[in-house]
Amino acid sequence: MQTVLISGGGIAGTALAYWMHRHGYAVTVVERAAAPRLGGQAVDIRGVALDVVERMGLL
Ligand SMILES: Cc1cc2nc3c(=O)[nH]c(=O)nc-3n(C[C@H](O)[C@H](O)[C@H](O)COP(=O)(O)OP(=O)(O)OC[C@H]3O[C@@H](n4cnc5c(N)ncnc54)[C@H](O)[C@@H]3O)c2cc1C
Repeated sequence: MQTVLISGGGIAGTALAYWMHRHGYAVTVVERAAAPRLGGQAVDIRGVALDVVERMGLL
């Protein structure tokens, strides 16, 4: 299995990790932040992002 290292656990890094995992890669994501933002975060999904979350089964 091919491996890939993704630097950054924001939406770009985690979405890429999702798709590369789905396509058969062994994915590792590294994130410099010490912890998730436990206070939560507003999410405003519109435009092409709607297609992406639908294809990811998240809608
Ligand atoms: C206040 C605010 C509100 C917003 N509201 C919305 C909204 O409602 N809807 C919307 O669609 N967009 C919104 N945005 C924009 C949205 O947050 C960004 O477009 C999006 O987060 C970009 O994602 P990204 O993964 O490219 O980058 P980031 O979210 O910046 O993620 C990059 C990650 O990489 C990590 N990183 C950086 N350098 C390294 C390193 N050397 N090693 C390891 N990890 C590293 C960072 O810690 C970070 O977690 C908002 C932005 C702000 C600031």
